[in-house]
Amino acid sequence: MLRVAESFHRTDTGRQRKSNEDAAYSRAPLFAVADGMGGAQAGEVASGVAVETLGAGLPETAPPESQLAEVVQEANGRIHALSRTDERRAGMGTTMTVLLVGEDEVTVAHVGDSRAYVWRAGHLERLTDDHSLVEEYVRQGRLTPEEAREHPQRSIITRALGPEADVEVDTHTRPAHDGDVFLICSDGLTTMIGEDRIAEVLAAARSLEDAGHALIDAANDAGGRDNITVVLFRLEEVVLGGGAETEQPTQVSMRAEDVRGAVATVQRPRPETRRLDPIPASAPDPPAPDPSRRRRSRLWGVAIVVAVVLVPLLGGAYAAINAVYFVGTDQGFVAIYRGLPYELPLGVELYQLNYTSGVRAQAVPQPELLTDHEWRSRDQAYELVGGVERAQGARVP
Ligand code: MG
Repeated sequence: MLRVAESFHRTDTGRQRKSNEDAAYSRAPLFAVADGMGGAQAGEVASGVAVETLGAGLPETAPPESQLAEVVQEANGRIHALSRTDERRAGMGTTMTVLLVGEDEVTVAHVGDSRAYVWRAGHLERLTDDHSLVEEYVRQGRLTPEEAREHPQRSIITRALGPEADVEVDTHTRPAHDGDVFLICSDGLTTMIGEDRIAEVLAAARSLEDAGHALIDAANDAGGRDNITVVLFRLEEVVLGGGAETEQPTQVSMRAEDVRGAVATVQRPRPETRRLDPIPASAPDPPAPDPSRRRRSRLWGVAIVVAVVLVPLLGGAYAAINAVYFVGTDQGFVAIYRGLPYELPLGVELYQLNYTSGVRAQAVPQPELLTDHEWRSRDQAYELVGGVERAQGARVP
């Protein structure tokens, strides 16, 4: 079974636009980018409605491709209706590229020219075809991809949410693997830098966060003519039924251990905490010194106690803290924390946010799961939250 090990999202206005009409959605298991168009902030409204519709959850239909197609069509209907009732929003529209992470596969739904890629074993593969005029010319052999990127009509898209009452949504599902990194981006990235450059940036990045910032910087360095949005997430295989802590190797250079990752972009939560009593990592009383020994010998004794007893104890305590996980909430969403559910005096927390789910805490039928802060292995914590996600279908009430 796969889970989202970490994610990153950021949108940037770029160097030439005054406003940002892109929007991003990043709550496992759903990730999306919408790139709005239309004057007087109408594009911002369109892309905003698109991601809001995702936030309302997936329809309870199966299979996943139908779920995504339905939610994208629902967004289209809402944007279209708004554009017809408000003159200032007439003709507004947006692209939408959505990825849904399943147990062993990822489903893509797509309208417009925002793209999805997978980065696997050092190779970048595009998962979407642009619904754009220039892409059509490329398919017909009338333009090269390089010419398309510089073409004056490169921003004309042939399919969008909003302009029509109905929209055709491209969907497909493909197997996913441990270590896969998925990228969803607006054309503000891909019209500024080529896929070779994207691959270079991903290969050089030490973390998802590094990669995300570097992609946006590269697009800005190349001119930043449009809004730039980047959503990245990395998948990891979860071994079900395992009680022990298992570190999963990844096939890319980006490892959760290297970074605080997506955690750094989320405001630090304050789950209910208990005071730590007593501190379990304290050292046992050192042996009483023999007064007959010389001072030098006592110093050696102290040094040996520190080396032999304290260092392994503290190291063991640190390792133990990092091997423990508990389930709680992060800003109203189900979350997994790594560490012990305690706070030391002076506000020193013995835990850090490890993962935020797309499921609202209030939607969980057994709230005690989120408040008992039971110590679990990583796999147990992820198995529990994975079950909650599958039960809810990431539906946000
Ligand atoms: Mg754009």
